[in-house]
Amino acid sequence: MTKPLKVDITPLLQEVGRTSYLELTEKISGGEDGLIITEPVKIEVDLVNAGGTILVNVNAKTKVKVECARCLDSFDLPMEINFEEEYSSMGPPPMPKKKEVELTNRDFIFRIGKDNTIDLGEAVRENLITELPIKALCDKCANPST
Ligand SMILES: [Zn+2]
Repeated sequence: MTKPLKVDITPLLQEVGRTSYLELTEKISGGEDGLIITEPVKIEVDLVNAGGTILVNVNAKTKVKVECARCLDSFDLPMEINFEEEYSSMGPPPMPKKKEVELTNRDFIFRIGKDNTIDLGEAVRENLITELPIKALCDKCANPST
């Protein structure tokens, strides 16, 4: 199970337009997708109460374990991601009728928990997976002369 990274948004919910900024450093464990996060994640979050939904703008820095595309050694790859997510107390909108519509990250709306918290851990992990390079090179292979 993924350890939740919960943020209390009670003060934010009191007024539409209210904003909040947070800095967190949290260890996020991997999920069933096999992503191995090897360092606590440094997270900067901007939150906005957009009325009905909370818009979250996240910058996250960490390291993930990947396999070098050339020498196949596993190594820690530094990653920095930026993403926006939407959290709604209503849950995701009804599915479009067409079945062929591809679900992108943008279409997925996270839920605000009953205790007025949002879980950033899941969003960070999903976005790390999305941003993972297809071919990563370790230091030795990226800079063979050094
Ligand atoms: Zn290598």
